[in-house]
Amino acid sequence: MKDLTNVTAIKKLNNSNLIVRKNLHYTTLIFKSGIIVLIDWRGFMENNNKPVVNLISKPENMLKTVYTACRTCYSADYPINIYNSTDDKEKMLKLIERVISSGHYSTIEHIQVSFAISNVSRACTHQLVRHRHMSFSQKSQRYVKEKGQFDYIIPPTIEKNPELKDKFVEFMNKISKQYQEFVEAGIPAEDARFVLPNAASSSLVASLNLREMIHLANLRLCTRAQYEIRTMVKMMCDELVKEEPWLKPYLVPKCERLGFCDEDKSCGRKPKFDELVSKTGV
Ligand SMILES: Cc1cc2nc3c(=O)[nH]c(=O)nc-3n(C[C@H](O)[C@H](O)[C@H](O)COP(=O)(O)OP(=O)(O)OC[C@H]3O[C@@H](n4cnc5c(N)ncnc54)[C@H](O)[C@@H]3O)c2cc1C
Repeated sequence: MKDLTNVTAIKKLNNSNLIVRKNLHYTTLIFKSGIIVLIDWRGFMENNNKPVVNLISKPENMLKTVYTACRTCYSADYPINIYNSTDDKEKMLKLIERVISSGHYSTIEHIQVSFAISNVSRACTHQLVRHRHMSFSQKSQRYVKEKGQFDYIIPPTIEKNPELKDKFVEFMNKISKQYQEFVEAGIPAEDARFVLPNAASSSLVASLNLREMIHLANLRLCTRAQYEIRTMVKMMCDELVKEEPWLKPYLVPKCERLGFCDEDKSCGRKPKFDELVSKTGV
């Protein structure tokens, strides 16, 4: 599966060799050879608009800790003996996959990771904080007064259009002037901020356990998720996979784990459940 922002070669494709599915945001090309190309017409975020994401904390021996939790459930031995008994990665991964696949998720709740995130819009953080098993510490618009022009995120669709981008920037400048006028008139920042937009940039530290991390990835890497949170969660996953490559198969859109798409409108990456049933004849 390849995500592309711009495919000019699409015109050259021979339609008889592929199935084309289109919706508002995506075109999915499914070739007879089995190759799937997903074109995201909304584009991904430009550098100056992109979130900044860093993994700042994770436990050592993550794999061994999860393995110990899994093994403890099926062993008469003390957990500490299990922990010290092996360094065999393959053996540990085999058990972990079996336990996670069977839905025994408490075993991955022992692992907590933290990310430092900045340069994301309030529209994005508002979605992130809907995840109830995460902990957040976010830059306060009550305690931190905006000085001069506040930072903001320009959506790629507007960034690409010079005329609309000028209008967007002009509008942000206007808001900023109004905000400053309120602050200078003695209005507290907690009230002046009422005029700040969803585009206003924010920073936060976000922490979550591995169960929630997998759930977050499964939901927010889905092409149905909004592009900014999708970009940010992809960066969180990449940061973690850099340190813990064994997590890669879990930090994927939910359809990759399910084998089918359960969304109302599918991007075509995986068949819908009904299509799968009719294909396999089950
Ligand atoms: C593509 C997309 C579109 C969305 N559109 C909208 C929208 O239009 N409007 C809107 O309001 N939201 C929208 N959301 C947000 C969505 O409804 C959820 O609030 C958000 O994704 C958090 O998911 P969650 O509840 O599964 O996860 P979490 O809050 O992270 O919880 C993880 C899991 O814990 C369990 N859990 C947590 N709390 C409870 C509880 N109180 N009771 C029972 N079980 C619980 C559930 O199994 C849950 O899946 C959207 C999300 C996505 C991914």
